[in-house]
Amino acid sequence: MRDWPLLSLRKPALLYWCLIYAAAVGVFLTSSLGGPPPTEDEIRDFGVLAGVSVLVVVLTSACDPFRAESPQNLWAVHVAYLLAGALTLPTNLVVLLMIGPVLQGVLEQRPGPHRWLFTTAATTVATFVACLVAGTCPNHYENNLFGSLMVGGTLLSARALLVGIGFWLRKPEARPNEVFGEPLDVGVGIVAVCTGVLSAMVLLADPLAVILLVPPFVLLGRATQLAQWRRSAQRDPKTGLTNATHWNRLARAELVRTRVRRTTAAVLLLDLDHFKRVNDEVGHLAGDSALAAVAELLQNEVQRRDLVGRFGGEEFVILLPNTDPVAAERQAERIRLAVSGLAVPTTAADGRPRLLTGLTISIGVATSSRFGYEIDALMVAADSALLSAKNAGRNLVTLA
Ligand code: GH3
Ligand code: MG
Ligand code: MG
Repeated sequence: MRDWPLLSLRKPALLYWCLIYAAAVGVFLTSSLGGPPPTEDEIRDFGVLAGVSVLVVVLTSACDPFRAESPQNLWAVHVAYLLAGALTLPTNLVVLLMIGPVLQGVLEQRPGPHRWLFTTAATTVATFVACLVAGTCPNHYENNLFGSLMVGGTLLSARALLVGIGFWLRKPEARPNEVFGEPLDVGVGIVAVCTGVLSAMVLLADPLAVILLVPPFVLLGRATQLAQWRRSAQRDPKTGLTNATHWNRLARAELVRTRVRRTTAAVLLLDLDHFKRVNDEVGHLAGDSALAAVAELLQNEVQRRDLVGRFGGEEFVILLPNTDPVAAERQAERIRLAVSGLAVPTTAADGRPRLLTGLTISIGVATSSRFGYEIDALMVAADSALLSAKNAGRNLVTLA
């Protein structure tokens, strides 16, 4: 997880962060000091739930042999046991369950503590809101399935909203799925709510049996990484573009749709000219910045439905659905001109800042009206057109 230095936050984000933090401290102090003293049964239930949450956090954050492979984010686990607490315990004990998220932040020793402090504060406020909803319901939610799910939904959505607004204020250009999570995260959230409600039922029926929930909680912790695993399996980390394997899969499916709709599509194969020289003259890190800048340019130059991928090294590939040969060539020409006007701020190998200009790209274009709807045939044709562009002097677009 990336660093989030407090003072580098934009002003609205800083204000919001401080607001959430103050609200969390306020909620914690008023809740933990207020309310009637808990009964013995409540203290026992709290002890069991707190013990299980601490055990799960320690197992996942400190003892998991795979923890170094990808950053942990146990938000769904926290939602599950906090929900169980909100459904069964008085608020002054529920807020003490925040020991789980705090312990996770401490154990993982992330470089910037601000991000986990912020999410922990937002989770505290969301849990308090869930406790308010639970408290307004008759029967204290014992055997009240619909009410329990409503409390779970409140906790989940309040947390997502509070955290999401913070991320969005920090990075307004981020896409909605980066801010509020992907559909997969919603699925994991639903599992967390169901697990939380089941945990509350088990706690009311037989407190010691809650220990059986440790393995499902650990598994839920693994499930929070699904969206991230999926992203890293499909994306090229250097450019953020779709990687070659995933692009091929998407392009194949899009070409099937194109054939059914009886429209035409085009494949563009793009290769930066003399890119080895960039590495040799300015360094490989500057070369990487140039690749990232070209990738961003490509995404800005095409429409949303078009598929941009990193084919390999300094080669990119684009599928343009619903595009005839003339429009495809025009699009390729626009991209070629845009790349030649690119100025990339980089740091050269000697450590000095350097504005990288003069990049050019050669593009081979193949269209389905000539080469059909099979991706392999289109790629061969685009590659041969690209070779012609290179042989004809580079910085050119050639139609196969
Ligand atoms: P041409 O115009 O014929 O394409 O010349 P070229 O130098 O671009 O082509 P060549 O295939 O000889 O070299 C490709 C270069 O791209 C070599 C390699 O160092 C560089 N490259 C490939 N992948 C990366 C990468 O991820 N980062 C950096 N910095 N360079 C890369
Ligand atoms: Mg190449
Ligand atoms: Mg090249």
